[in-house]
Amino acid sequence: MNLEEFIINNENTIRISVFVGMLLIMGLWELLAPRRAPKISKLLRWVNNLGLVFLNSLILRLVFPLAATGMAFFAAEHGWGIFNYYEINPLLEIIICVIAMDFIIYLQHVLVHAVPVLWRLHRVHHADIDYDVTTGSRFHPIEIIISMLIKLATIVVLGPPVVAIIIFEVLLNGMAMFNHGNVGLPKILDKFLRVFIVTPDMHRVHHSIEDDETNSNFGFNLSCWDRLFGTYREQPRKGQVDMAIGIRGFTQPRQTTWLHGLLILPFIGKIKGYTINRREWNSRDQSED
Ligand SMILES: [Zn+2]
Ligand SMILES: [Zn+2]
Repeated sequence: MNLEEFIINNENTIRISVFVGMLLIMGLWELLAPRRAPKISKLLRWVNNLGLVFLNSLILRLVFPLAATGMAFFAAEHGWGIFNYYEINPLLEIIICVIAMDFIIYLQHVLVHAVPVLWRLHRVHHADIDYDVTTGSRFHPIEIIISMLIKLATIVVLGPPVVAIIIFEVLLNGMAMFNHGNVGLPKILDKFLRVFIVTPDMHRVHHSIEDDETNSNFGFNLSCWDRLFGTYREQPRKGQVDMAIGIRGFTQPRQTTWLHGLLILPFIGKIKGYTINRREWNSRDQSED
């Protein structure tokens, strides 16, 4: 049995092992050497954040029982998508598809910040006032469904091999858990890794309470997209330890932490203001809110 068959046949085991493995590794790392002091109880956050992750996986199974890999099989059978049309080296095909899907995820992330109604959903990810491994998987179920629809559309156009989707989804999950860790790497290592991938310090800037900092560093895996498209920011103005994390005005744990609060968060307040074109925060903007 070759590696590709192994990955396809053991998809669920690989997914669960990476999730649980990363949760243990990052959880332990955060416990031993936290980058920032937690503002609220870690136990409370973990119960609610992981509760949301569990709920999302149930909803995904119900709404999309065949999931992304099912769509890839279907596209391959019907000859849909670029890579079901052109034959190229299988390894190269997997690499190109994984990179292309990472680019789409980057664009999708910019989109959910730019469109006010989508930002409401994405606020659930940003409302966490602490930042740790569980923040990385904390998304509103409707955003998860929209994400899946975008992924299915990407598969239809791209026609990626099934194994590329599994690799991409496992990588995305593992990397999101890594770069949301409440951990820090030695400065020199962080600088070196950032040339290629998103590090915890790089993505943490994106969770700043300051609008212009939130609207930077959208990448999840490769760091090149932010550099290429001008959304890269090296550090938050107040520094990694002193910067405030979360969304201005959302400070109550029943809104930012409790599961029921997270589920109704998108429906709170009036739809207004593109967050993305407010580059600088000042007192006038604040009074408008
Ligand atoms: Zn975001
Ligand atoms: Zn994030």
